[in-house]
Amino acid sequence: MNIAGKLNIDDLPQICPTLSRKAKKRYAEGETRVVQVLEVCFGADQPVVIAGPCAVESRKQTLEVAFAVKLAGAHMLRGGAYKPRTAPHDFQGLGLEGLKILREAREETGLPVVTEVMDPRLVEQVANYADMLQVGSRNMQNYPLLTEVGRCGKPVLLKRGMAASLCEWLGAAEYIASQGNLDIVLCERGIKAFACGEYSRNVLDLNVIHAVKQETFLPIIVDPSHATGVSAMVEPASRAAIEFGAQGLIIEVAAARAGAERPKCDAAQAISPETLANIVEFIKARAAYRAGKGQAQVSSPATPQALAMTGAM
Ligand code: PEP
Ligand code: MN
Repeated sequence: MNIAGKLNIDDLPQICPTLSRKAKKRYAEGETRVVQVLEVCFGADQPVVIAGPCAVESRKQTLEVAFAVKLAGAHMLRGGAYKPRTAPHDFQGLGLEGLKILREAREETGLPVVTEVMDPRLVEQVANYADMLQVGSRNMQNYPLLTEVGRCGKPVLLKRGMAASLCEWLGAAEYIASQGNLDIVLCERGIKAFACGEYSRNVLDLNVIHAVKQETFLPIIVDPSHATGVSAMVEPASRAAIEFGAQGLIIEVAAARAGAERPKCDAAQAISPETLANIVEFIKARAAYRAGKGQAQVSSPATPQALAMTGAM
């Protein structure tokens, strides 16, 4: 049957002539483009860990979390200055003030910053403060925004739309690439399915990691925070994503000290810096195991699972 708008994975070389592995033989089979954000490399040997608050709420909160995630071993800082909220009455982010706080956190910790841009008119402003621009799930098919971030000269973290097929997702990436910007990192953040909201926020589609690697040379990372919406699921989801070949993680973290304020956004999915440290140790242990180094150099705190895998337990 002929259906208007039907997308087929075999059509990807036509949909994405720049990014399809099959259309352009820019990269060898299995090889990933390395996307560099300052000294951080996505798609190289080690998975990249991005962590930080859901939203930049204050200078104090952001600096505290930024130092905590750095100490836990994160490579980059996340935090929303412009927040896509379901209701217009909810906290929308601090805007430009939030960007300035992120810049200070970056200067203080040395961690490169990724933050979301939602409005094509604000791309230049956000690019002046951030090292990497995030296009969120809700905006994956905002084509004027994709075109603008394609022109901004900064690497882009492109989240998968919550109901986007692989063809739609890679088509969105092609909009950025067609402006001459191939520094794109894809991010799986959970998709809508019948079970959403019953026991988790979204359904983490780990299978797509394999498919992405088959179809394109762009690196892919996973957001276990928005994929699950449940803090207790974030660590196991992170481990599973790494096992599936994710080239990084982006994780929401909140200060765990007694008396710390509860985050205004997504508090139920925020993990503690200590749990983040466990995830980082798992990644290191797994990488050492994969490299065939035998017993990994694991410093405390390490998960029993990570130690078991390295043969240290
Ligand atoms: C976020 O990372 O802050 C965010 C809003 O995520 P998503 O676009 O995946 O919902
Ligand atoms: Mn969030």
